[in-house]
Amino acid sequence: MIKLNKVSKTYRTDKVETLALRDIDLHVREGEFVAMMGPSGCGKSTLLNIIGLLDRPGQGSVEIGGVSMKGHGDRQLAALRNRTFGFIFQSFHLIPDLRVIDNVELPLLYRSGGGAERRRLAREALEKVGLGARMDHYPNQLSGGQQQRVAIARAIVGQPKILLADEPTGNLDSKMGEEVMDILLKLNGEGTTVVMVTHDEQEARRTNRIVRVFDGQLVTPEHLHAA
Ligand code: ADP
Ligand code: ADP
Repeated sequence: MIKLNKVSKTYRTDKVETLALRDIDLHVREGEFVAMMGPSGCGKSTLLNIIGLLDRPGQGSVEIGGVSMKGHGDRQLAALRNRTFGFIFQSFHLIPDLRVIDNVELPLLYRSGGGAERRRLAREALEKVGLGARMDHYPNQLSGGQQQRVAIARAIVGQPKILLADEPTGNLDSKMGEEVMDILLKLNGEGTTVVMVTHDEQEARRTNRIVRVFDGQLVTPEHLHAA
C-alpha cells in the first residue's frame, strides 16, 4: 500500500543543511496499523509528510497503492492525496465558528456530490466516532477527546484508504487517548491502513508493528507483534 525506497530528505535554509531522512526503506501493507516512534527531531513528521504526499523526497521513490509518484505534478499529487489519505494531528485544527457537522463536511466541499449527500456522509462519520448526538455543537462545547474524535470524523469522511496520524493523543489525558486509540483500532479493523506517530509505548503495543526512527534512519529489525 505504501512503499518507500531509499528515501532521503535534506532541508536547506540560508546557512543550514539538515539531513532529516536518509535511505529509508519502508513497506506498509494494506490493512496494517503501524506505530512510528523516535525522539523529537528524528524525522517522524518529515516521513509522515512524504508518505502523505505533502512533501517530496530529495532522493528515492514513493509508491502508493502500487502507483509510483515519479513524474506526478503538484496537482496530480494533491488529487491523489485527497482521495487516498486522511490526516489527524496533535492539535485538532477545527474551525471554531463552524458546528461539528460543518467541520466534518469541509473536505467534501471540493468533491462532487450534493449537499444532502455531504450531510449524510458527515453524519455517518460522526456516528462512527460516537458523536452522532453532538453534530450541532460548536467545537469549544466539547472536551479535547471529543474534539479529536471530530477531527477523526473529518479525516474519514471522504473514506480514505490510509489514515496518517501525527501524535493524535499527544494533547489528551490517558483516558481520552485510549478512546481515540479505540476508534483508530476500529477503523483499522474495518480495513483502513493506519500510520501513527506516538511517544506512548503502551499505545504503540496495540498496533501491528512498531517502526523506530533514530537520527533520520529506521532502526531494524522491525518488531512484529502477534495480531
Ligand atoms: P520529528 O517529527 O521526529 O520531531 P521532524 O521530521 O519534524 O522530526 O524534523 C527532522 C529534522 O528536520 C529536525 O532536525 C528538524 O529541525 C528538521 N526540519 C523539519 N522540518 C524542517 C523544515 N521545514 N526546514 C528545515 N528543517 C526542518
Ligand atoms: P511536532 O513536534 O509536533 O512534530 P515540530 O515542531 O517538530 O512539531 O514541527 C512542526 C512543523 O514545523 C513541521 O511541519 C515541521 O516540518 C516544521 N519544522 C520543524 N523543524 C523545523 C525547522 N528547523 N525549520 C523549519 N520548520 C521546521
